Amino acid sequence: MALSAVFRCFRGCEGSFPLTQAIYRCPKCDGLLTVRHDMTALGEISGHDWKSMFDQRWSATSSSGVWSKREWVAPEIPDDDIVTTGEGMTPLYPARRLAQELGFGELFVKQCGTTHTGSFKDLGMTVLVSVVNHAVKTGALKVNAIACASTGDTSAALAAYGAAAGLPVVVLLPRGMVSVAQLVQPLSHGAKVLALDTDFDGCMTIIRELATRGLVYLANSMNPLRIEGQKTVAIEIAQQLGWTVPDWVVIPSGNLGNSAALWAGFSMAKELGVIDKLPRLVIAQAANANPMYLAYTAGTLKTGEVPSVTAKATQASAIRIGAPVSAPRAVAALEAMNGVVEQATEAELADACARADRSGLYADPHTGVALACARKLRDKNIIRATDRVVVVSTATALKFTEFKLGYHEKKLAEMDYPLANTPIELPPDVDVVAKHLA
Ligand SMILES: [Zn+2]
Repeated sequence: MALSAVFRCFRGCEGSFPLTQAIYRCPKCDGLLTVRHDMTALGEISGHDWKSMFDQRWSATSSSGVWSKREWVAPEIPDDDIVTTGEGMTPLYPARRLAQELGFGELFVKQCGTTHTGSFKDLGMTVLVSVVNHAVKTGALKVNAIACASTGDTSAALAAYGAAAGLPVVVLLPRGMVSVAQLVQPLSHGAKVLALDTDFDGCMTIIRELATRGLVYLANSMNPLRIEGQKTVAIEIAQQLGWTVPDWVVIPSGNLGNSAALWAGFSMAKELGVIDKLPRLVIAQAANANPMYLAYTAGTLKTGEVPSVTAKATQASAIRIGAPVSAPRAVAALEAMNGVVEQATEAELADACARADRSGLYADPHTGVALACARKLRDKNIIRATDRVVVVSTATALKFTEFKLGYHEKKLAEMDYPLANTPIELPPDVDVVAKHLA
């Protein structure tokens, strides 16, 4: 079985390009690219056999969820060139108490933040850096540096995988807009960190120009190699549910690559006979950075255009994006998955985090956006009481301690704090302490 994958135009223009080529836009229409697999060759293995193979790998020797699905991801990368930190295979947490409290039939949280650098970005970055590593080794590509614009997590993942491969990394960050934990990760891995006086969208404009000039290899999710790794989240969710799909998958969304990745994963699984239908998709946005929500409610999505907005400050800093690069992909994903778009205010996202934390989860603000949107859709009965729902948690809350503490100390903007929980200061007297136990 000879498997292969190439870059093709997302809109369908003619021509294909090897995955080892530094190309990010269609040369004919300037649109996004996508990775196309040889589905005929993949189809020579039955759905039953794919499931057996993937199950065997999950329980046996594989340490990477992404590369345990390697035939569906980047089939031509030899073992020696793979750069992995054991990403993927993250828990699908049954949030029973939260489900009961909010009136969900079944609610699961896909804990993507329990991975090496603490966010789902590892899934795409292992693929991108492995392909670059392979291309450099074989002489197909000369790379001065792999580079990205980032709201935090992307730069952490790129810096870690670049360091693991011994490849130079440059990251562009909006100065003062990422958490301390997110800033320190690329610094620690030896990446060159350039903090610019602009927002994420401003950094993205500059990184695209640097890539166009051939000065850097672009690692943002405009590069479809990232999507190939991220799509394994969809395959893992189905696998963890016994090769069935939930009724809904809810995902926090900024640049919208993740929505496209879910669609890519579920649709590939369906085409290859591994699942029999697609779940419905919820694109969950912060109300302060909501271009997709605005286009959805205005009914203009059919054109494929999502007008840019200027994203305002949000605790969900990783999705503070006003000009989402993967909007055309996400529009297609919404249509294919009969999806909806919802938004959450700062107070709603923070309360959703606090409520989830009270049930034993530890939710980062982006997961808070997704949980808040799921709750709103449940309240509107768009998500029904009997539905099985998976919320994708994209990062660990340990990266957002300032947010957590700010909530409980009631120091954040645009909040109500119904669940704030502050320490009670007492003298070291057993009788006084005893009065405060209940
Ligand atoms: Zn094209």
